[in-house]
Amino acid sequence: MKDETQIKTLCPYCGVGCGLEVVPSQGKGAWQVRGDRAHPSSQGMVCVKGATVAESISKDRLLHPMWRESLEQNFRQISWEEALDKLCDRLQTVLASQGPDGICMYGSGQFVTEDYYTAQKLMKGCLGTNNFDANSRLCMSSAVSGYVQSFGADGPPCCYEDLEQTDCAVIVGSNMAECHPIAFNRLRKYHKKTPHVRLIVVDPRRTQTADAADLHLALRPGTDIDLFNGIAYLLMQWGFEQAAFIQQHTSGYADYAEVVRHYSPDVVSDRCGISISDLETAARWWGKSGRVLSLWSMGLNQSSEGTAKVRSLIDLHLLTGQIGKPGAGPFSLTGQPNAMGGREAGGLSHLLPGYRFVANPQHRAEVEHAWNLPAGQISPNPGRTVWDMIRGLEAGEVGLFWIAATNPAVSLPDLVRVKAALGRSPFTVYQEAYFPTETAEFAHLLLPATQWSEKSGTMTNSERMVTLAKAFQPAPGEARADWEIFCEVGRRLGFAAQFPFQTAAEVHAEFVKLTQGRPCDMSGISHARLEQEGPLQWPLPSGENPESQTQPAKRLYTNLQFPTPDGRARFSASHSRGLAEPPDPDFPLVLTTGRLYGHWHTQTRTGRTEKITQMYPNPFIEIHPRDAEPLGIVEGDVVEVRSRRGWARFPAKVTRAIAPGTVFVPMHWGALWADHAEANALTHPTACPDSKQPELKACAVKLLPI
Ligand code: SF4
Repeated sequence: MKDETQIKTLCPYCGVGCGLEVVPSQGKGAWQVRGDRAHPSSQGMVCVKGATVAESISKDRLLHPMWRESLEQNFRQISWEEALDKLCDRLQTVLASQGPDGICMYGSGQFVTEDYYTAQKLMKGCLGTNNFDANSRLCMSSAVSGYVQSFGADGPPCCYEDLEQTDCAVIVGSNMAECHPIAFNRLRKYHKKTPHVRLIVVDPRRTQTADAADLHLALRPGTDIDLFNGIAYLLMQWGFEQAAFIQQHTSGYADYAEVVRHYSPDVVSDRCGISISDLETAARWWGKSGRVLSLWSMGLNQSSEGTAKVRSLIDLHLLTGQIGKPGAGPFSLTGQPNAMGGREAGGLSHLLPGYRFVANPQHRAEVEHAWNLPAGQISPNPGRTVWDMIRGLEAGEVGLFWIAATNPAVSLPDLVRVKAALGRSPFTVYQEAYFPTETAEFAHLLLPATQWSEKSGTMTNSERMVTLAKAFQPAPGEARADWEIFCEVGRRLGFAAQFPFQTAAEVHAEFVKLTQGRPCDMSGISHARLEQEGPLQWPLPSGENPESQTQPAKRLYTNLQFPTPDGRARFSASHSRGLAEPPDPDFPLVLTTGRLYGHWHTQTRTGRTEKITQMYPNPFIEIHPRDAEPLGIVEGDVVEVRSRRGWARFPAKVTRAIAPGTVFVPMHWGALWADHAEANALTHPTACPDSKQPELKACAVKLLPI
């Protein structure tokens, strides 16, 4: 029987974007969470994070604005009035002394789209600096630049129904079983009951995902492009390329074929550390399958050649015509719950709302007009990425650093350097739901923010499905929604006309107008419609038939027309460059980092959830016996791991699940949760030249038993 008091919302953790129902707990005075069977993306399924989210909401909340003159002092509670005065005074001081580019904001894929949009309007429109970046830079920016370069626009072309309609799924650099568990459940169920379906997993670790595969390619870190070009070599040699598709719908094939001819099976086998037989099996399954779906996440994105890796994988789809039809296509798995919404709202330092670019004069003019700002107000220069913000702090070029809903003192690479830079910031505002966090250590002004369950807003998941997450309980203490804080600051700085919004629905209504006619057109979506009809997938232009939401899941490029000037998808022609920091005699092992099933990022929520902390009481390092034995390391020994940048200590797990020459450490533990167990004390910031996404997935280390 339907519970009339249930509230439909979505899980605020990962980009799978599962629907949740919140139900009052009979007689207990608290509420419970369960999967929403009507949500098209998740069909009632939910993982441990979604199921336990309620537990994390009430603990360790930042309830009031807090202030201190210097990092040596303790915080003292102040009023919102005083907090906003201090913030606006500082903004105006920096504007006058350093200009708009002295201001930086670092936001989050945990924002709702309304938060993202108002932050863009404040920073890029009103203040005139593009120095807004989000933690999606660490997560999805290589997928963004890969899609843009190959197809002419961002946007995953696939949908979750493809998981149940493919003949061959190729998962690359993603422990999907642990990191996107509900999407993986859909694929695994289908794989189990459909005998002809092939599942290939490419990963240096034998993860839970790899355990479910028909073929696991445990390649050497950094050799993904070698593998993709090697598969292409065999597909071409065996005649699997789709000549008519290539001729009618792509460009750049000749250059691609010239690159691929260098990747013969013996070369690729040697570089990747896989057998020729396994390479041939992967190529044969790809070539013979009617519908091929590739899925990837951080293993490709977090790389100094992330864009090239993404494009090389897309090339295989273009070579074989595997796109624009059910069960086929390149499908990036989004990390954060609303990294997709951030991309739509322009939430990276080179973007503007509606999949526009700050470097494009027409795009700037369209946004300036929509925002009722004078021509030329938006800077033509891409702003600082988050790593450029760190460098700006080091150089004394940042006068105000505004961080919201993210924890860079754990999540950025090269943490020793990051913490030193944060310590030099003359004025750091930290807008956050929780206290303490590791980043709060470096803040002068703390602004309490509401979060999931306390504010209304929309989020877009990996398959472009937009869900409304409504507020259903009061804000704790004096916490305010992020978008309300951005609007209030804008009004105090003299931009009342730009920030008339009273509700998140009004913000959303203005935002979707800026998507009209764009590749991510969602001008037909509104809060009212989402509330009435449930989640809606874009593209959904204004005026589209109201019944359209009942149509089957949508794919992009079904007409094989791509948003490039000539309508064709572009082959890349990339040679593999390998790791930015390969192992050498001084640092002979490759460290790779990743996530565990229950935890989320830096544990700001999951570290406060008993069931999850019991699942994972401690960090650890996985070491292959062949690497452990010469050092005398046995299971449980504490091992010191050193890179060129720092050190950390972890209990050893000696296991054949990791390839020899590679070690694995989970990235969840910051200084708040364990002593010297920070994976990012070891990692380096060298980034992809196109996406600017750092190579968090690989650095050279050595082990010292202690
Ligand atoms: Fe939440 Fe992701 Fe788990 Fe779904 S798979 S319940 S969105 S954490």
